[in-house]
Amino acid sequence: MKKQIISAVMALALVLTGCSQGKKDDRAERTQYKANIKVGTVEKAGDLLTVEGEEEITFKNYSKDTWDSIVLRDYNPSNLAEEKANEDGGYHTAITGITQDGKDVMFHEEQDPSIVTATLANAVKPGKTGKVTVKFSLKIPKGSCRQSYSFVDKNSEKPEDIVIALGPFLPTLPVYENGGWAKGDYFPYGECFYTKCSDYDVHMEVPEGFEACATGTDKHNDDGSYDFKATNVRDFSVMTGKNLGVFEENVEGVSVKVWYYGNNEEVKKAAKETMLPASVNSIKIYNDYFGKYAYEDLDVVLCSYAFGGMESPAFVRINDDYAIQSEDMTEEQREHHMIETIVHEIGHEWFYSAVGNDQYNEAWLDEAFATLASMIYYEKAGDASHDPASTGSMWKNTWKQSGSLKVDLPYSEYEKAGTMEFPAEFRYTCTVYSGGASFLYELRKTMGEDDFKALVQEWYSSNQNKEVTTKQFLELVVKKAGKEKVNGLLNTYFSKENIPA
Ligand SMILES: [Zn+2]
Repeated sequence: MKKQIISAVMALALVLTGCSQGKKDDRAERTQYKANIKVGTVEKAGDLLTVEGEEEITFKNYSKDTWDSIVLRDYNPSNLAEEKANEDGGYHTAITGITQDGKDVMFHEEQDPSIVTATLANAVKPGKTGKVTVKFSLKIPKGSCRQSYSFVDKNSEKPEDIVIALGPFLPTLPVYENGGWAKGDYFPYGECFYTKCSDYDVHMEVPEGFEACATGTDKHNDDGSYDFKATNVRDFSVMTGKNLGVFEENVEGVSVKVWYYGNNEEVKKAAKETMLPASVNSIKIYNDYFGKYAYEDLDVVLCSYAFGGMESPAFVRINDDYAIQSEDMTEEQREHHMIETIVHEIGHEWFYSAVGNDQYNEAWLDEAFATLASMIYYEKAGDASHDPASTGSMWKNTWKQSGSLKVDLPYSEYEKAGTMEFPAEFRYTCTVYSGGASFLYELRKTMGEDDFKALVQEWYSSNQNKEVTTKQFLELVVKKAGKEKVNGLLNTYFSKENIPA
């Protein structure tokens, strides 16, 4: 299991990389997901846990093409493969049936099993609305990947003490652009997620006595079930288990909730004394620097996770190893990694969640900005141990050592460049996170603080709830800073086709 942080460079690799409730109500334009799901349990540690569900997806064809077929992203088979928990060693779709207007819809998974193509019974013309009903049965492995369960006490592994964390798990429509559906391959070291802001209405049955937190507002019903509603978000995440604890603080109109589980005093202390202040301060600092946080609430969720953390709209996961004593990390190291992960993942609420991008093809657009956000956090929080100049040169050196690849490439290019010495995930992380952040750091130096801050504020405010491209960002940079001033920088870090003429 890829759990512990080995070096500063790898630390970046381990901080994985989240969406927004907008103010303007254009519900008919957004895809509506209405789901009924039932979360199962296990007899013994190691069993696959089942999550059964049915989801009604109402979508508008926003393109100029007639949709004879649609693509659904179903990450469960890839997740099983990642955790090496495929029962039969092969891939299998989690989707068990799709219907449209009462008719069965033929569907098949592509070579990447997370890509499911469904041939519609009735084509949906541009501007028209379609509706499909998808039945699915997810197999959730024990482990620490995006869809997994673990135990309150990892040593005893009592089935009644399971905690289930589900990252993106509902079948969703990826973005349709340039005549096709986004089909970035699933890979464990980063994200291939690319969706439009949508609305979720999820009814969830949980095992008896279980509590749950999820994206959006929640209603805990008398029968123990939950109803979650989220508006204008790119995906939907959940954590459920017994004895969930929560610390809450309202900051600048945002309800920040830090969730943990179990009755471990050490974990509770970390949630209260480290996680809550770091989360609240992130909101304050980023509100001021980037623009107002896009949602009404934020769940910061401590749970088992193989990487440092994972972003999701108004919901971030933080690796619980940072809260529990171990031989691998000192208390100081754990606190350091916890804060670094929290401020990075919360940075994604601005970049990925609110301002969306294709995380497979242009990951730098969210990862580099979230990495930069952590520098802004430490700077504004007055943390002298994170000197911006040393951080800036560390980013540049990391990027150079990994081969100075352009930062705006799809994951497949970093994969091709991978060698035994510098594997693909290393190239990807050092380029996209460190290289991208190095560019932003240099740009800040070149433009000066006031102009740079104005630039990122304009970027954020004009693109909230939209999807952006590298080309658009560089056009704004050139418009604001002048081509001459930034030409050298752009050529150093970006592919020619993205640099404005
Ligand atoms: Zn990230």
